[in-house]
Amino acid sequence: MRTGFNHLFIPGPTNIPEPVRQAMNVPMQDMRAPDFGDLTLNLFTDLKKIFRTRSGTVFMFPGSGTGAWEAAITNTLNPGDKVLMSRFGQFSHLWVEMAERLGLDVDVIDVEWGAGVPVEDYARRLADDRDGKIKAVFATHNETATGVTSDVPGVRKALDAVNHDALLFVDGVSSIASIDFDMDGWGVDLAVTGSQKGLMLPAGLGILAVSEKAMEASRTSTMRRAYFEFADMVKMNATGYFPYTPPTQLFLGLRRSLDLILEEGLDNVITRHHRLAEGVRRGIDAWGLPLVAVDPSFHSDTVSAIRVPESVDAREVIRIGYEHYNISFGTGLAELAGKVFRIGHLGDLNEGMCLTALSLAELSLAAAGGRVEFGSGVAAAQKWYADAASAAIGVAAE
Ligand SMILES: *Cc1c(COP(=O)(O)O)cnc(C)c1O
Repeated sequence: MRTGFNHLFIPGPTNIPEPVRQAMNVPMQDMRAPDFGDLTLNLFTDLKKIFRTRSGTVFMFPGSGTGAWEAAITNTLNPGDKVLMSRFGQFSHLWVEMAERLGLDVDVIDVEWGAGVPVEDYARRLADDRDGKIKAVFATHNETATGVTSDVPGVRKALDAVNHDALLFVDGVSSIASIDFDMDGWGVDLAVTGSQKGLMLPAGLGILAVSEKAMEASRTSTMRRAYFEFADMVKMNATGYFPYTPPTQLFLGLRRSLDLILEEGLDNVITRHHRLAEGVRRGIDAWGLPLVAVDPSFHSDTVSAIRVPESVDAREVIRIGYEHYNISFGTGLAELAGKVFRIGHLGDLNEGMCLTALSLAELSLAAAGGRVEFGSGVAAAQKWYADAASAAIGVAAE
């Protein structure tokens, strides 16, 4: 029997704030009503703040992040185009696979899982590409499978250093609205996200921001596309409508979640994610377990992938957590299956929730045969949270 809260610590879907969930619990509305645009036009405006773009165009496709990837590729590239990609986890792997299936000529750099986008290798490839064969460069900003955040500004620098004209595609599905992301500042041409991670909604929207340069490319691109055609969307979105039935409930939820993010302040949301993530990492470190991320510079503030000792099956940790303690941890994907479990720490989250995740992870780890001193991870995180809060609490008490 399950009583009390169900604890969701997968890196997506994330927990939905109660006001957002309530905002979606409404009767169906008319998506061709004269005032429908009052809702949607403001969503586009506020999403631009989340991507940090002024000149970009935002699209909301019914679908998920993967659909937005497909939209990004098929609207801006041509069959057989050469593209530069790197693979260091399940999500960057899936992006490579999609690009291949769609008929692109993919130059893929395989990197150790736990490292990130190989910026120096990219720089070399781009410098060598004197006649501009590479049409696009892809970066998975936050590899959710390994808990690795990559240096997207570094990729932009590598492009600019040799005045390379390739489009910069960024998968920001598990970073945007949680980890610093600056579309205009970093010169990102296509930034992809979904509704069910940092935006704290159910799955169902693939959200994409497109630079002016990429919009220009979309006017001559010859890849096949139909459902995801930018031009159809742009035409209808201009007045707040859609070429096909949009998920209106999700829009109402998005309205509320954008309000929450903008009320807290995007910078504060990002700082909170860092503070909470660092507590989780200190807890994991106190257990003596390593992260998959091979260097602190790669640490992700939205998900930690934890390597368990060889004597422990990480699938057991996850099973015990789920069956006995009402908690969902992320599983080890592909080559990390059995070796890794993940704690997602993004979205609607606070210190208490992170301490709960660490506490139940200790119980689950121990039951799966791991040697863990009860309370060690929790105490390390508490110490970090206490130090982080002391300044604010001190001011309040004066
Ligand atoms: C979740 C995720 C995806 C997949 O998005 P869907 O919404 O499941 O299609 C892609 N990339 C990254 C980095 C993700 O975390």
